[in-house]
Amino acid sequence: MSISKSVNNIEEIIDKAETGNELNRHEIVLLLAASDEETRLLYAAANSVRKQNTGDEIFLRGIIEFSNYCERNCLYCGLRRSNKKLSRYRMPEDEIIATARLIKETSIPTVVLQSGEDSFYTSEVICRVIERIKTETGLIITLSIGEKSDADYRDFRQAGASRYLLKHETSSKEIYNYLRPGCLLEQRLRCLQALKKLGFETGTGNMVGLPGQTPEILADDLLLMKKLDADMLGIGPFIAHPDTPLNGLTNYGLETTLRVLAIARLLTRNTNIPATTALGSLHPRGRIQALQAGANVVMPDFTPEIYKSRYDIYPGRTDVGSATEIMENLQKDFASIGRPLNFSAGYRQHKLAS
Ligand code: SAM
Ligand code: SF4
Repeated sequence: MSISKSVNNIEEIIDKAETGNELNRHEIVLLLAASDEETRLLYAAANSVRKQNTGDEIFLRGIIEFSNYCERNCLYCGLRRSNKKLSRYRMPEDEIIATARLIKETSIPTVVLQSGEDSFYTSEVICRVIERIKTETGLIITLSIGEKSDADYRDFRQAGASRYLLKHETSSKEIYNYLRPGCLLEQRLRCLQALKKLGFETGTGNMVGLPGQTPEILADDLLLMKKLDADMLGIGPFIAHPDTPLNGLTNYGLETTLRVLAIARLLTRNTNIPATTALGSLHPRGRIQALQAGANVVMPDFTPEIYKSRYDIYPGRTDVGSATEIMENLQKDFASIGRPLNFSAGYRQHKLAS
């Protein structure tokens, strides 16, 4: 990607990014305020860069949310430890493995194991689960279990996990410190560096619509995603949960999230970008719109029905039904936009055009 002079006209900025040039903070802020017509051009450019770099197919990751216990107290999240209304669950090891087998049966090649920060599952237990999934199903394993020590990350890697999702959430230190009491953005970024160093395919990302978030902060989020050179980017709208301190805050909509996602595609070219469940919760066509604005991945939820509704991060989460029903519905939705499903590993495609 080459550096060129700063541009003020939105169509020129889109063109500049589409042809592989870097954007500065000011240009990104302008793009975030694009008119409806300009936004259509932005999405078309992101869609085209997605097509050139990752193809038309949609890559799949099956997610298992194995525990809704959390020792953290993030102000935005329904799993926060102070939410006493939540009915908590922990999936036993055998049930996690059985669910991974279900994912394997659908031919999806990757399982994402996600949970609150729950030290009930020691590093030893997590490693045993990873080893069993590897031996018994051969699935590629992604972890999304929060901040751990470097030694834990190393053990997970050695046990056979190969991907890790840890969103930076927001690039604003002030908002981060406020929303994640007792946590530091610097530490989150240190974790991401450690994961990269260990050879994990690493995912980061943000929430869009957080209180106090400005277009400048969103531009910094995007520049941070680019700088971290993450392989996966989870970009989703913040949705207020009624049993959290952020109850009642309204999100300023789907459009801003889609714009952030589209700009992320233009800036990072060949990354894997999911059409997040949160987008589907905000709007029935949210996931489809994301797939037409730069996204190339979908993560169907395979958490057993008895637990699913209790993984209550935010209200209105979708993906209800059995594994077969989920797969049938996905296939129908994506066929309607001419995007076939891909059942290969879906590594970041460094080899393709950038
Ligand atoms: N505990 C791990 C962590 O925080 O990284 C993984 C599980 S956490 C529930 C997964 C993601 O949920 C977070 O990275 C955050 O972006 C998202 N999330 C939490 N609360 C949310 C909300 N109210 N709206 C949208 N996304 C939310
Ligand atoms: Fe826990 Fe993650 Fe929710 Fe924070 S976002 S409360 S760490 S589950």
